[in-house]
Amino acid sequence: MTILPIRPGLEDETPYGAPELEVPARLNVNENPHPPSQAVIDDIAQAVARAAGGLNRYPDRDFPALRQALADYLGAESGVRLAGEQIWAANGSNEVMLHVLQAFGGPGRACLSFTPTYSMYPEYARDTLTDYVTVERRPDFSIDLEAAGERMRELRPAVVIVTSPNNPTGTALPAADLREILAVARGSGPAGADGAETDCVVIVDEAYAEFRRPGVPSALELLADNPHLAVTRTMSKAFGAAGLRLGYLAASRELVDVLRIVRLPYHLSAITQAAALAALAHREELMGQVASLRAERDGLVDWLRAQGLTAHESDANFVLFGPFADRRAVFERLLADGVLIRVVGPEGFLRVSVGTPEEMRAFRDSLGAVLTAG
Ligand code: PMP
Repeated sequence: MTILPIRPGLEDETPYGAPELEVPARLNVNENPHPPSQAVIDDIAQAVARAAGGLNRYPDRDFPALRQALADYLGAESGVRLAGEQIWAANGSNEVMLHVLQAFGGPGRACLSFTPTYSMYPEYARDTLTDYVTVERRPDFSIDLEAAGERMRELRPAVVIVTSPNNPTGTALPAADLREILAVARGSGPAGADGAETDCVVIVDEAYAEFRRPGVPSALELLADNPHLAVTRTMSKAFGAAGLRLGYLAASRELVDVLRIVRLPYHLSAITQAAALAALAHREELMGQVASLRAERDGLVDWLRAQGLTAHESDANFVLFGPFADRRAVFERLLADGVLIRVVGPEGFLRVSVGTPEEMRAFRDSLGAVLTAG
């Protein structure tokens, strides 16, 4: 027996994470349901084998080749041309955002986000001793710009996180709203060295951006005019490589250079770098499933509404639906049928990720039976 000197504030905390259950339809963590093809597997295996030959050496610390490949990918995906020096990457976009909080948050500083939203943000704040403050979204999950502006001006947060498309609601942020938040963020950061005015860093978490509907712009388009903007992306979702652990962000060179101060040396292994580069070379194939997942999502929203439920419009690869008097009971009944979804979001609501047509059929059959049984 020992009594460990756990840091004050962590005593009652538990590790974050959704249940990891081996069931036929895993629709709870917004993964891409399609595994890589044999050609992609072979290329990744070869690249990893080559990297393994040099494992006695530390990996490339600043990974310029991967940063350039990610910049090229963003250029192809969104039409926004960026330099490799404007890209930063780490083991998932979770780690990328933790780097941002490590660099700009800290004791006496605040991070602001708009709830309901992704439940890891308070953990980045906790882990960097940053205050976490939220502004509630409107009933349609849009951001109340007046309330946001007021809160930003009084709080002077170091970091604001806007999630677009938002998790767990699926809601994308209109470009005009983001422009307004970026404008308010100018000069609204905490006092800098010798009291100088600073700009608050605005993270736009675009983990699900590739699933957005046509006409919904990416925040990448605003990078050129906003050196305090950081747009985070990930290979975990549309790219179908959650197991790779590769997240990244695009920002001004100044912002990226600050992140390089807080990263641990060699945080991206040579194996990760090699596998990510090989996967990026197959981006067209890996992204090929996005259109069908979007169509499946839109069909799912229609089906849920036809059952008399509320299903929110989604620009992501999941749908929030309800309400249920006892959402936990609905979750359990689906699980008994081998369909794993997520209890998350506003009271009474559940979230389901878009899976393969077979998985979605299993979901509809199971939920349909629950609704019929009443
Ligand atoms: N942002 C959002 C909104 C997410 O939903 C997730 C994953 N669920 C992440 C970031 C983190 O993803 P990863 O670390 O796999 O890149």
